Amino acid sequence: MSSLSIFCMGYKKRVWATLLFLVSWIVGFGNGVAGQREGFLLIMDAPTQPASTWAWELLRNSRRMETVIGVLQASFSLPRPLTFRFGEGEGPVYDPQRVEITIPYPFIADIAHLLSEHPAPTAVHSEQTDTLDVVEWVVYHELAHAFVDLYNLPVLGREEDAADALATLLAIELVEDGGRMALTAADLLARVAANAKNTPNASFWNEHTVDQQRFSQVVCWVYGSDTTTFAPLANSGTIPHQRAQRCPDAFSTMAQGWWRLLDRYIKPA
Ligand SMILES: [Zn+2]
Repeated sequence: MSSLSIFCMGYKKRVWATLLFLVSWIVGFGNGVAGQREGFLLIMDAPTQPASTWAWELLRNSRRMETVIGVLQASFSLPRPLTFRFGEGEGPVYDPQRVEITIPYPFIADIAHLLSEHPAPTAVHSEQTDTLDVVEWVVYHELAHAFVDLYNLPVLGREEDAADALATLLAIELVEDGGRMALTAADLLARVAANAKNTPNASFWNEHTVDQQRFSQVVCWVYGSDTTTFAPLANSGTIPHQRAQRCPDAFSTMAQGWWRLLDRYIKPA
């Protein structure tokens, strides 16, 4: 069975995963901890600082991360439990010792702040939805680091580029309108790169060598994944004409590379 056919089930899985997670929540596994004790775990620490409360409430009210974890749970087998912790520690980062991805609430507030100053050009949603879109893309980016560690995957080239690639691929394959999610994240990367000194809580951005190249690579993959829907990216000159022609190949090479690595870990549909 090809990986792609499994992932074409992504939207339906997303609905089912949300329902299953909500049922587990309602029957008492809640308080921020995912019901299952294996696979993908979700922990949302109660905020201790007023600045974190906004992000915590955004996550809780949207149930977005419960959906993401539910879809991942339905899609991938893990050799060890992997925890996604939202809280007030350092990050976003994957810690191989703890097998834990940490996403800080202040980082989420930073994203919202950056979006409020300058909404994404692709924005068709509210600022809160765009914030959650960027957070979800970053979750997938950190997940790539976790996969490299947990599955002992070879990485050719920079691991950061490979992580951006998987983040973009999972957004496109698992999320309805996920190409736009990746573009919103890419646009934010570009603006941070252009204005790094003025970015609050810059540690994530610094550690992840934010540069224009990352932005343009993500945009090229998204365009290459669907040249009809994303034709305006080429027509407007966001992607130079010559490069745009190579983007479909760039996307399929990237996608096939990741699917080949992940194939044996993908759960049957
Ligand atoms: Zn990274």
